[in-house]
Amino acid sequence: MQIKTDVLVIGAGPAGSIAAKNAAQNGVNVLIIDKKSEIGTPKRCAEGITKSTLDELDIEPNFKWITREIDGIEIVSPNNTSLTLDDNKIELPDTGYVLERKLFDKHLLMDAIRSGTKVMVKTKAENIRRIKEGFVVEATSMNKHVSIITKIIIAADGPESHVGRMAGLKTNTSLENMASCIQYEMVNVKTSNMNHVKIHIGTICPGGYIWIFPKGDDIANVGLGILKSHTDKTAKHFLDSFIESNHDLANAQIVEMNVGGDPIGGLVEERYDDNIMVVGDAAGFVDPLTGDGIRTAMLSGKYAGIVASKSVKAGNYSKDFLKEYYILTEENIGKTFNRFNKVKEFLLTLDDDSLNNIVEEIIKTDMSDVNVKSLLKIIIKSSPKSIFKLRKLL
Ligand SMILES: Cc1cc2nc3c(=O)[nH]c(=O)nc-3n(C[C@H](O)[C@H](O)[C@H](O)COP(=O)(O)OP(=O)(O)OC[C@H]3O[C@@H](n4cnc5c(N)ncnc54)[C@H](O)[C@@H]3O)c2cc1C
Repeated sequence: MQIKTDVLVIGAGPAGSIAAKNAAQNGVNVLIIDKKSEIGTPKRCAEGITKSTLDELDIEPNFKWITREIDGIEIVSPNNTSLTLDDNKIELPDTGYVLERKLFDKHLLMDAIRSGTKVMVKTKAENIRRIKEGFVVEATSMNKHVSIITKIIIAADGPESHVGRMAGLKTNTSLENMASCIQYEMVNVKTSNMNHVKIHIGTICPGGYIWIFPKGDDIANVGLGILKSHTDKTAKHFLDSFIESNHDLANAQIVEMNVGGDPIGGLVEERYDDNIMVVGDAAGFVDPLTGDGIRTAMLSGKYAGIVASKSVKAGNYSKDFLKEYYILTEENIGKTFNRFNKVKEFLLTLDDDSLNNIVEEIIKTDMSDVNVKSLLKIIIKSSPKSIFKLRKLL
């Protein structure tokens, strides 16, 4: 079977569906394919998102796919001291939701379809080849071979990023920048406040942090991401040890297990070329500091969808024309990520004692007049030797 389209989006995660929607609503032919038979399943995500993200992307919040509202964060230091940041302590710039990704991702795809996108599930892009008009993508759809001829590919195929590499782009993330993640969805979880997310920091989780993201009165995603450059042990080892010793989880049972890589090194430089743009995790659109990628996957998808529709209307699919996508993502995401990468490098140098001291100092501080300068003072006071590392940051 042969199919022709203007824009082919490969991957129906948040990046792909938002890209498809934005291209289709500007009046061009869009086809989106995904190798999964059920979109959004299994999740590779703790499912946290800020409320402002939905506003920014014009997505109406819907409690069909929101499982919990979050109004605070608890940071637990290596010596088990808790710093709670909520309305009682500080005016938070934003609060959040925990989603049900398998419903959220499906909702985004349905939204793209309602804007005119055609969809093929259980359709895996196996190979791509350049032709004069753009690309031919060889795919297996419901066990049958299909050739898709397209002027533009939007590669939204997640952290493995095969499609970009098949097009000759260097989209792979080095091992040292790929957080190795594991998560259990658990029931019978009892934290002190099931409307707060809880973060445990320190050598308990080398190169990353442990999260407890509540999804219900006694349900939560409990997981972590480690950097393999910081330990020889597996992510599972650290998660199981944490659960064994944590009283919030004493009676908790696992109902789902998720594993996956999270590319936290920043945006890949080669994220566009003639007839192709790479979006979402496939191009490193993950906050290097927190590992969150839903917001930036969707933003990158939005920019790529808009640029793709302009390109089809202009009949110009050249790298030069698609550069607008690079500029939009660099200005609106890349610059912030570069700063966050430096902050992450600094935080990774702090030992458990310094983290304990910093948390204790922040607890003592009147948060109403906290700012970057006062935070730096706290860090230097708690860990005097960090001043040398901070110099690099500033
Ligand atoms: C354990 C963990 C926890 C996380 N927690 C959070 C969190 O709490 N908040 C947050 O913001 N981010 C979180 N993230 C990151 C977030 O999940 C990702 O950034 C986000 O899913 C990226 O969206 P995407 O559309 O780029 O890719 P994906 O969601 O990975 O979607 C890619 C899609 O492409 C499809 N695909 C792949 N190859 C092909 C192919 N050859 N042909 C057809 N289809 C293909 C896949 O089936 C998939 O549906 C977490 C990540 C991990 C690993």
